[in-house]
Amino acid sequence: MVRPFDMVIRDPQSLAHRLEDAHPQSILRQALDGGGRVAISFSGAEDVILIDMACQVADHVEIFSLDTGRLHPETYRFIERVRDHYGVDIELMYPDQEALQAFTRRKGLFSFYKEGHQECCSIRKIEPLRRKLMQLDGWITGQRRDQSPTRHHVPVVQTDTAFSTEQHGILKWNPLANWSSGEVWEYIRANDVPYNELHDRGFLSIGCEPCTRVVGPHEHERAGRWWWEEATLKECGLHASNLEQPVRLVG
Ligand code: SF4
Repeated sequence: MVRPFDMVIRDPQSLAHRLEDAHPQSILRQALDGGGRVAISFSGAEDVILIDMACQVADHVEIFSLDTGRLHPETYRFIERVRDHYGVDIELMYPDQEALQAFTRRKGLFSFYKEGHQECCSIRKIEPLRRKLMQLDGWITGQRRDQSPTRHHVPVVQTDTAFSTEQHGILKWNPLANWSSGEVWEYIRANDVPYNELHDRGFLSIGCEPCTRVVGPHEHERAGRWWWEEATLKECGLHASNLEQPVRLVG
């Protein structure tokens, strides 16, 4: 018998086309009911609405988050608040300690300002994510098209070309692809969804503390991430397939 997952991994474009105008909750339902092991990747920011919606359509939701060791204290507190609010487990994925120790011994704690963020992100984010994705058939992300120049063409479901291998195909679901920042915040307010207190202090897109700053009134949402780098190259490797010439994934 051909499972729905097997059909989707062979031809994700057809499903993406069919779901293009679907509500994020319907896309989530499809992701969670479509067969295979699928987990939500929670970044500790406004993508919490994926958890809110998933808890309404599924009895059990697998959730993980990448603990880089460099998140804001507010983000750690927020992750705990979400865990309590929804009564869910959130698995924290940590960097490989040996690799991290060798890296910080060689390069210190702030090498990304001079050398770019790729090496640090590879160790603190990409390798732990790859380790998690090896266990999964699909992951659900909070990517939206309106977030940055690198995300304008994000489909609602796609094969994750950055992390799939010949032996192991992985689907990436982006249920919020079509939603604007305004729609996300309308949902958060209307449904009393908990949110990271950093948003009240002018942070829009929230990542690691040293690589995130408040954005100005006319700046783009992700202008506060790795602000010292070129906007069209600003992906940390988690979503490297969004780049026309993806960065090499190390780790
Ligand atoms: S966002 Fe910054 S601190 Fe976090 S892993 Fe990437 S380079 Fe390192």
